[in-house]
Amino acid sequence: MSESYVAAIDQGTTSTRCLVFDHHGRLVALAQQQHTQHFPRPGWVEHDAAEIWRIVQRLLPEALRNGGLDASQIVSLGLTNQRETVVVWDRLTGEPVTPAIVWQDTRTGPLLPRIAAEMDATSIHERTGLPLATYFTGPKLRWLLESDEDLRRRAEAGELLLGTMDTWLLWNLTGGVRGGVHSTDVTNASRTMLMNLQTLQWDPELLAVMRVPRAALPQIRPTLGDHGTTTDPVAGIPVRAVIGDQQASLFGQTAFESGEAKCTFGTGAFLLLNTGTQPVASSHGLVTTVAHQIEGEPTVYALEGSVAIAGALVEWCRESLGLIRSPAEIETLATSVDDNGGCFVVPAFAGLYAPHWESRAQGIVAGLTAYITKGHIARAVLEAVALQTQEVLAAMNSDAGLALRSVAVDGGMTSNNLLMQTVADLLDVPVVRPMMAETVALGAAYAAGLAAGYWSDQQVLRRQWHRAAEWSPAMEPARRAEMLERWSRAIELSVAWGR
Ligand code: ADP
Repeated sequence: MSESYVAAIDQGTTSTRCLVFDHHGRLVALAQQQHTQHFPRPGWVEHDAAEIWRIVQRLLPEALRNGGLDASQIVSLGLTNQRETVVVWDRLTGEPVTPAIVWQDTRTGPLLPRIAAEMDATSIHERTGLPLATYFTGPKLRWLLESDEDLRRRAEAGELLLGTMDTWLLWNLTGGVRGGVHSTDVTNASRTMLMNLQTLQWDPELLAVMRVPRAALPQIRPTLGDHGTTTDPVAGIPVRAVIGDQQASLFGQTAFESGEAKCTFGTGAFLLLNTGTQPVASSHGLVTTVAHQIEGEPTVYALEGSVAIAGALVEWCRESLGLIRSPAEIETLATSVDDNGGCFVVPAFAGLYAPHWESRAQGIVAGLTAYITKGHIARAVLEAVALQTQEVLAAMNSDAGLALRSVAVDGGMTSNNLLMQTVADLLDVPVVRPMMAETVALGAAYAAGLAAGYWSDQQVLRRQWHRAAEWSPAMEPARRAEMLERWSRAIELSVAWGR
């Protein structure tokens, strides 16, 4: 009998990957492609969902080809995705009817006070675990359906289907217009601001506030379970897990126990702490979210500190400023100087997420003098990523009443040695990175493989976690305190500027 494998589709903010793993959690095949980012107006960020589906159609067969594999060898597929991004499509043609509004998009800012007037932010927070912010899907849907009377009519008439990126891809993978599965999983649903965190079902009052017709929404299913079988682009692969990307990386880091945490440094930075089978409400600006749900078992929750802009700031330095030619160059540039020269960058491109939730905050560069060079700016860029992470770690320690003793990291930015050292310095905890850097895809594969019985239990997966690198804190406490103090002043400026 030929070897069997598990596959994962990781549909991220900037690119999509298809990966195949073996029984030891080793990567045996990979295909990857970027998609177009559209910035049609200040604060707006859009994707073309049709482009993303075409990419998935190309990547899945390509990954199989690269590994010399046949679809029949894939026992289970896990789907993981950028969260909160909303897609609206025509049930009959299968075509998206608007651009996908991406999680980072802030167009719903002016809508938030109107939403708050109908249901106060505290009540929304209690029901969903989420602060009222532009980040989440519900306000985006209300904006979309209010922006076009015809869209609203068609959504209410049942002509349109709504969903997050997982739902769009799952529906297409499992048949599309010929009977695709229209469902989502609890981790993705927990980011929509439409799901009640206690019942794990769509909340009728929230649907009313966001003006979302129930019939157009997908069914909510457990993370690990039966999500259908693929028909396109390769037929016959069982989809056994659907999971939001940050929850997937928590799973891929094998942070299965309460008290275990990870931080992913990709487009944004996301620190998640497994809080076990009870949702913990945050009083320090964190998000309460579903970590995963295994069919027939109690739901596992997490506290999350979401930072909108991390790698996206490096991308901006490359694409918009031309400061660097490749992301890796930011490190070379930053090491050309000894410190930031007094310069701080607050990248509030999408307002500020955790722990501030200031939708109107705008980015600033503070401390400019004639002394400042490109090197200082590069250093301030990397420090901004670490300083934002420090803020969410501090909030997490306060909320959970614990002091995290180390942080497991992953994501594209972890190849940046200076950044990882700065994170260890400013968080004042050791930072560890596993051998397998593609933790999001690995988590989706682990979930899909567990659900299909490819792996027997979580302990097997834990034994596959191997440390590749560790950074220890080495910054003088006085220097650290000074950095944190100046950062908080820079944050105040960024908030004041947006008022
Ligand atoms: P996502 O899954 O959110 O698309 P990835 O985990 O693939 O993100 O990480 C990509 C991000 O990491 C990009 O924003 C890129 O600019 C950044 N990045 C990649 N390599 C480096 C590096 N060596 N230094 C700093 N940033 C980097």
